Amino acid sequence: MNELKEIVLRKGKEDSLKRFHPWVFSGAIAHKPDAIEEGEVVHVLAADSSFLGVGHYQIGSIAVRILSFQNEAIDGSFYVKRIAQAYRLRQTLQLLRSDNNAFRLIHGEGDLLPGLIIDMYGDTAVVQAHSVGMHRDISLIVSALKNVLPDDRLQHVFYKSEGTLPYKAEVNVVDTYLMGGNQVHEVAIENGLKFNIDWLKGQKTGFFVDQRENRSLLEKYSSNRNVLNMFCYTGGFSVYALRGGAASVVSVDSSSKAVLLTERNVNLNFGEDSRHEAVAEDAFKYLKQVPKGKYDLIVLDPPAFAKHRGAINNALQGYKKLNYSAFEKLAPGGILFTFSCSQAITKESFRLAVFSAAAISGRQVRILHQLTQPADHPVNIYHPEGEYLKGLVLQVE
Ligand code: SAH
Repeated sequence: MNELKEIVLRKGKEDSLKRFHPWVFSGAIAHKPDAIEEGEVVHVLAADSSFLGVGHYQIGSIAVRILSFQNEAIDGSFYVKRIAQAYRLRQTLQLLRSDNNAFRLIHGEGDLLPGLIIDMYGDTAVVQAHSVGMHRDISLIVSALKNVLPDDRLQHVFYKSEGTLPYKAEVNVVDTYLMGGNQVHEVAIENGLKFNIDWLKGQKTGFFVDQRENRSLLEKYSSNRNVLNMFCYTGGFSVYALRGGAASVVSVDSSSKAVLLTERNVNLNFGEDSRHEAVAEDAFKYLKQVPKGKYDLIVLDPPAFAKHRGAINNALQGYKKLNYSAFEKLAPGGILFTFSCSQAITKESFRLAVFSAAAISGRQVRILHQLTQPADHPVNIYHPEGEYLKGLVLQVE
């Protein structure tokens, strides 16, 4: 333990750590050892040398991501403890059922493992390191997974971090199986619906598990409606709408691969279904040519428009423009499910962007639901930045 390098903060910079916020910004550091490697486990000390936390050192504006505020070893049993705690929570949430086996097992700071994401699809874990520290600890993490999960819940581990590690990091990582393998493709089950998950080539870990509960809510509104699912990706909302008795569903995504994935998932659940059509087209262009009143349920679930703080203003303009088009086109009595998954955009500013769009359209709009991410994407109360998904369900007269 004592061999760990120590990072000492400037006087007064210990406050946020004392409130258990898990990030140390580089500007807060008074001194650090010269020969410190990215991803190393370090101790963080206050100016008076008292212990504050232990975490992964990284290069950049967030210099340390705290793993524990106790002076404990970051070893195999640490990861077993954290992953077991996370697994128990998912059991409490009843996400491991015969009709549901897709869920997020580890959600970074929300599960007290900053920099680590693990999504489960049946007996496959797709693991993403977002920090060099987690990358360096990957074999401890995989062993811990094997230790915690029963065999029938874990047969494959796919490590997918080529696209998620900081791009300047001097580590070579290749996406690969660390357990099982053989190019498996899982059909995962979400609330009784089947989805083909392509973690090898798909976005993120292959599927957006964070929309599970919001898709369920949409199902309840779908009966006899003409549904437009914009930014459909794997067609999650479309499949739920079809099960909910939609009269028709049009799925739109600019990626033709996504359109194929959507068609495959519709087919997997319903066979050939003449109610469904998928279109590869830019969302803004598509909405422009939609006749007014054609759709009475529209879903807007775009990718994060603001990937960093500098992009906030442009992102808000984007949300405003997009939502305005939906207000303009929705049939009277129509329903709009509108989302933002940009971490940098607050709930309030997203709401303001949607409000402005509504005002320009002049329509009467009521908020029916205010949506967020599900409980398998928990928010560490000391790290409010972890609340990233925002959604509104609106009724438009
Ligand atoms: N609603 C999806 C997740 C959406 S992810 C779900 O429930 O799983 C965002 C999607 O938007 C991606 O598939 C991406 O290809 C698509 N996309 C990005 N820019 C777009 C644009 N300008 N027009 C249409 N689709 C776009």
